[in-house]
Amino acid sequence: LLRLRPLHFKFLSRNRIERLFHHELYRQATMGAGTQIFNKRYLLDTLKAEFQSSRVHGRPLSVIYYDLDFFKKVNDTYGHSGGDLVLRKIGEMLRSETRAYDCVGRYGGEEFIVLVETNGMPFVEAAAERLRVKLNSLKVRLDDGRDVEFSISMGIAEVHEGESIDSARERADQALYQAKGSGRNRVIVDGSSASGAEGESR
Ligand code: GH3
Ligand code: MG
Ligand code: MG
Repeated sequence: LLRLRPLHFKFLSRNRIERLFHHELYRQATMGAGTQIFNKRYLLDTLKAEFQSSRVHGRPLSVIYYDLDFFKKVNDTYGHSGGDLVLRKIGEMLRSETRAYDCVGRYGGEEFIVLVETNGMPFVEAAAERLRVKLNSLKVRLDDGRDVEFSISMGIAEVHEGESIDSARERADQALYQAKGSGRNRVIVDGSSASGAEGESR
């Protein structure tokens, strides 16, 4: 559903984000070697560009923040290269399971961010949950034949009108923190109480 705000509806190119995506030099400068996902600098730049475009077009945006669960233990159990393989596979899956104009990036070592244009939080939450389930079923097999076991927690926040992107990212991070606190391997939406918890925590 498009919420048109005529006063602001000057025609800016439909997908600034797409142009950024296809700008090869920029891509190389900001993408992790050998991966199809983007690094923090790209994300922050894109977050800004997409934010402005979203303000113009009135489409809400949401930030999904991913953090691997107990990843230190994954490294301890399977070795650092096993951990790296998991991260690469997750990056590939996020890229292939999201739309071309969603923005997928690796924000930190074992943290990813996906920026999505939405028709509302219920849709984002459902999409994130679907991804979580898919990621759970991802097979990452090591040379020695072992399958790496891992899970991921996610926090989601919608970018409010007039809010800075970084502030929305922080709220997504807080939701993620709640996901960790309430058992991990789950999706928590900013502003909702963690499942199993009684009260509202904001
Ligand atoms: P949790 O997030 O569930 O609270 O536990 P965690 O063990 O994931 O905790 P934390 O975020 O503190 O630690 C993240 C670990 O991820 C630390 C580091 O060893 C590992 N890590 C970070 N970046 C990489 C990477 O690029 N490759 C590998 N293999 N490990 C990484
Ligand atoms: Mg982390
Ligand atoms: Mg972690």
